[in-house]
Amino acid sequence: MEGGGKKIYEVIIIGGGPAGLTAGLYTSRSRLNTLLIEIGLLGGQMTTTEMVENFPGFPQGITGDELSHLMEEQAKRFGLEVVSQEAVEVKTDGEMKIVKADDAIYHCKTLIICTGNEWRKLGVPGEKEFTGKGVSYCATCDAAFFRDSQIIVVGGGDSALTEALYLTKFAKEVTIIHRRDALRGTKIYQERVFANPKIKLLWNSVVQEIKGDSVVRSVLLKNLKTGEITEHPAEGVFLFVGLLPKTQFLKGLVQMDEGGYILTDENGETSVKGIFAAGDCRKKLLRQVATAVGDGATAAFAAEKYLEGKE
Ligand code: NAP
Repeated sequence: MEGGGKKIYEVIIIGGGPAGLTAGLYTSRSRLNTLLIEIGLLGGQMTTTEMVENFPGFPQGITGDELSHLMEEQAKRFGLEVVSQEAVEVKTDGEMKIVKADDAIYHCKTLIICTGNEWRKLGVPGEKEFTGKGVSYCATCDAAFFRDSQIIVVGGGDSALTEALYLTKFAKEVTIIHRRDALRGTKIYQERVFANPKIKLLWNSVVQEIKGDSVVRSVLLKNLKTGEITEHPAEGVFLFVGLLPKTQFLKGLVQMDEGGYILTDENGETSVKGIFAAGDCRKKLLRQVATAVGDGATAAFAAEKYLEGKE
């Protein structure tokens, strides 16, 4: 990675979900020269959430898409600079942080990592082959392709439950396959799932293989209690088996736990002075929009204090 005499940002934020946009709002509003790097859509995982019901201030809920746009607009109003690039490497040179994003090199005094999570893969035969041909990780993106279809949803967390509920607007029948006999997701979603006549639950079961020709036709299921293997017809297979932090490119730079979540102190500071982490990529108890926003604000304020200490 090369340097060169060029612009030095006071703050660079990697990732433009709710944590990154909030951090950007705070640092820009504090008149800190801030660059936000995001390769995908601003709003992150929020953009693929149909309805956010538990973000305070919106008693009837708000679509993830709308909330994303509002957060983007608010952050940009205070001068946040945004580039659509993928950050691939971060190095330090003394107190300077150097970020490589696509072919560009950026320098900054403080860095806030808000890279969030990506969907965990199930890792069964057919998953890769049929991705985009019946296998999906986003109901709000793909549900409309599955009108009057038989859908399989895998997982028992909030994502599986909320996405299964959304899919019932389109599908003929949605079958949730869960590996245990109790759901992990929030009680209110469980109640809605149990009350929905279009949703069936298959307990203690896992998908062994996704089968098809040019598109998905069926899944092979294994009952973990009996060992029985059955074939279940399916045109769509939606996988929500958890999330993995997008922190691979930071390995060796900041301390992480065994799952790749970044370790921070209560102010969001990592093991490297002047590098902070906020939102879902950070090791913490609760990963929601509300907590990401709080993290982003705290990390931004801590970055500002760090810069003041350097002056
Ligand atoms: P999650 O809570 O980690 O749930 C993942 C689910 O997948 C679990 O039920 C797990 O089973 C199952 N699973 C994991 N590996 C599996 C495998 N190899 N085969 C079969 N099943 C497997 O992930 P999530 O549902 O994506 O939620 C992630 C975070 O986002 C949570 O904090 C959640 O609250 C939040 N979220 C919130 C909302 C909302 O409030 N509206 C919506 C979506 C997500 P076990 O239960 O047996 O471990």
